Amino acid sequence: MGLIPDKQGSKLGSTYFEVTDIQKNFRPLHKDATSVWVHSIPAVTTVGLDGQPHQIRSYATEMCVSTSRSGVGCRPCTTKDPLWDKLDQKSKTNRKGLRHDFGKKMVHLLPVLNLTTGKAELLKGGNQLYEGMTVWLTSQPEAGQDLRRCEWGAWKTGKNMQTKYTTTRMDATPFTITPELEAEAKSVLERGIADMTPMTAEAFAAAITGGEDLPVETPALPAPAPAPQGLTASNTAAPGHTPVQHAPAPAPAAPPVPPAGSDVLTGFSAWLQAQSEFSGAGMFDHLIPILQKHTGGVNYHACTPEQLTTLKAALSAKLDELRAKKA
Ligand SMILES: [Zn+2]
Repeated sequence: MGLIPDKQGSKLGSTYFEVTDIQKNFRPLHKDATSVWVHSIPAVTTVGLDGQPHQIRSYATEMCVSTSRSGVGCRPCTTKDPLWDKLDQKSKTNRKGLRHDFGKKMVHLLPVLNLTTGKAELLKGGNQLYEGMTVWLTSQPEAGQDLRRCEWGAWKTGKNMQTKYTTTRMDATPFTITPELEAEAKSVLERGIADMTPMTAEAFAAAITGGEDLPVETPALPAPAPAPQGLTASNTAAPGHTPVQHAPAPAPAAPPVPPAGSDVLTGFSAWLQAQSEFSGAGMFDHLIPILQKHTGGVNYHACTPEQLTTLKAALSAKLDELRAKKA
């Protein structure tokens, strides 16, 4: 199974680490989190004829599957919100005050050992939950940039929109990840990503209109992007927002202006996808660690041609190593 599942709507149901108002401790099972962009479809409430508030749309989320800054291939990136006029002011615009539709945020996924239950679970959260871990990780010398070195505690305070997530680092203690635990870690991450499978076109149209009969044309999506293109980096990506296309007709997304070096990128993507060692389990074992080392995350689309050359050299070295082992 790839990072982006093939079957639309399949929800495998991962096991999640629940952050509560009481501190609970965990041990990371991966060096760093895997990060994805997730769009929000804000809830919409209006006042009905009876003077009472009526929720006409529920809150929902949708993983961003675009492979480029233009949002090509992602429905929320390329669809105007039909209920945008009815949103509260805060949901209408981005931090720069510009209109945005279905804004997106980084979500981080880290397999952890829950030290209370003794089970592998997935710690899923935004930048705030991961801030402490990110700060510590980036303060370490490169060889020590591994979250598995320490135990961590996590808790939350406040409620609803005011909820604040905090983590605290414990002393480093020796810890061995057994092959069983490693397999569990891989499984909770894969299932967690599968839980975010994009909706079908019909489900998305229904989700954004709240079931109202509104004219919504959502662009047809190509087959789910081959992994790991739907994923973006946690540490390198700007916190800003991908520009949304506001064409009156739902643009069968015009191809983005090719950035300089795009031939190199296209060539690199094609090469990468042809390497079977980097698909399936190999993606987690070999590809992602190298991508994280070279790009700070798992996105290579923002790399310069020079960085891609270095990345390809590192990946080729890994391939040589893997093939030598097999031979
Ligand atoms: Zn998107």
